[in-house]
Formats: sequence, structure tokens, C-alpha cells
Amino acid sequence: MNTQKLYYTLNEFLKEKFGEKVKKIPLDAGLTCPNRDGTKGLGGCIYCDPKGSGTGLYIEGKSLNEQLRYFLELFKKKNFKKFVAYFQSFSNTYAPLEKLKELYDIVFMDPSIVGLAIGTRPDCIDENVVNLLKTYQEKGYYLWIELGLQSIYNETLKLINRGHTFEDFLKAYHLLKENDIPVVVHIIFGLPKETKEMMMETVKTLAKLKIDGIKFHALYIPKGSKMEEMYLKGEYKPLEMEEYVELVALALTYLPPSTVIHRVCSEAKEEDILAPTWVSKKMEVINLLRKFMSERNLYQGKNYQP
Ligand code: SF4
Repeated sequence: MNTQKLYYTLNEFLKEKFGEKVKKIPLDAGLTCPNRDGTKGLGGCIYCDPKGSGTGLYIEGKSLNEQLRYFLELFKKKNFKKFVAYFQSFSNTYAPLEKLKELYDIVFMDPSIVGLAIGTRPDCIDENVVNLLKTYQEKGYYLWIELGLQSIYNETLKLINRGHTFEDFLKAYHLLKENDIPVVVHIIFGLPKETKEMMMETVKTLAKLKIDGIKFHALYIPKGSKMEEMYLKGEYKPLEMEEYVELVALALTYLPPSTVIHRVCSEAKEEDILAPTWVSKKMEVINLLRKFMSERNLYQGKNYQP
């Protein structure tokens, strides 16, 4: 990455890889999560959106094929020619292998689909899943896994009821990397009881692992989540937009220039959340981040220590 750039975006990475712009298609496969169905826990992480933090289209009755056809048509009209099918909602490696294969085979539906992105939890990755994923790589599809970690601190993971530990994350991460499967890690800023130092330590630890990509999220409170009560009782105060932007700007300086920044902020519809409402203004957050970084000569990799 050219250090004159503020950070290495997913759009840039995909353009370099495929020679043109590539669009991610968000899919809701109607799966669940071991932290919601009772296997690991019930009700999920305290901030879990009952709709699954994705489009929520499956529950609205749209099959995977219908979703894909709809988005392909929509984005082709906007001049996109290549696509990555993104299994976003809930845990997309948590189902019998035959079912997973049936879902991922969606890449064969249209020749313009060049890749697969699969969001899941660390405790839903094992050798069988990895072997299945490798079959798509062998067929020439670009594939990456998006692993939810949120924090390296086990006390935080317990507090937010993640149902897995940092060690579980490391196990899944190394298994994927040993098999040459790129890993994008999701982390959350503003988790209860986390200090700025803790958040930066999570980023520095991921920088040491040289993760392929990262998604930054600000903690927000979806309506109907377990956090709702905590927030209404005044037991949790969300980050302000300016605080969040400062955290992300600093975090970016610790990352290697090669880590692809898939997202710098979460996005939620204002009507679906209690707070903070600024997470519905994604472009405002991005613009403020760019301004903040430019004014202070901050850029990705500036403080990176290999
Ligand atoms: S891992 Fe994701 S889907 Fe599962 S409970 Fe947590 S937030 Fe919800």
C-alpha cells in the first residue's frame, strides 16, 4: 500500500485483484448460531440483533436464490460485472456439511460471481469445514472467512456472552491460515468495561498476527437485544462519534499496511437501534475519520511494529 493513502480499502484490494470494481452481495442463508440455539448459549451475545445483523431477508421469506437474483440485477444495472457472494447473517459455517455445500454452491449460479466471503464464529471452524472451503479455492474462487473476535480479553468475551475464548479464536485462525484461507477479523470498540488501552491491545495483537483484513465496529444497541435493558437502566454509555473516530484512526496506525480494511464502522438503520444513532450515518463517520487522519498526518502502518 502507498503510505500516502490513509488506509487500504477493500475496494482498492478487489480492484487490484480482479482488475475492476467488485461488489459484495449480502446474503442471509437463514442459518442460526450456537450461541443462540442453546448449544453454547441462549439469546446470543448481549448486542446480538435478533434479525442477525444482515439484511434479514430470509425471515421475510426471500430464498437465497431470490436474494442473489435480486442483488445481481440491481448491481448489474449499476455497472458492476463481478461479485463476491457474502454470507453475512448469523454463523455461516454452522450447519451440516451437505447443507453448507448446497449453500456455497450458489457461486455456480452466475459466472459473474468470482468469490465467497463467509462470516462465522471461531468455534464453528473445524477441519471438515476447512476441507469444504478448499474445494472452492481449488475451483478458482477467491474466498475469505470473516471471524468474529470482538476483543482479545476473555473477561470481556465473558461479559458480552460470546460463548468462546480468545484461545478458540487463535485455534480457528491458525487452522485457516495453515490452509491458506484468508481471514478477516471483526472487532468492536466501546464494549462494556473496555478501556482505550485494551482496545488498542486487541488491534496490536491482530497486527502481530498479520491478519489479512479487519472490520471495525462501534457497539450499538439493537432493539430487542440483551443490551437494551442494560442501556435503559443507565448501566452502559455508548461511544460518541468523535471518540470512536479517534479510536479507529489510532488503531489503523498500528496495523500493517498490507491488512485490508473491510470496514471502518458498523451500519444500522436508525429505527432498529436504541443508541448511538450516529451509527446510521456511515458516510458522516467515514468523512470525519478521513478528516481527522489527514489533519494529524495519521495513516495505516504509521506505528506498526513488525
Ligand atoms: S455470534 Fe453473532 S449471531 Fe451469534 S449470538 Fe453473537 S452476535 Fe449473534
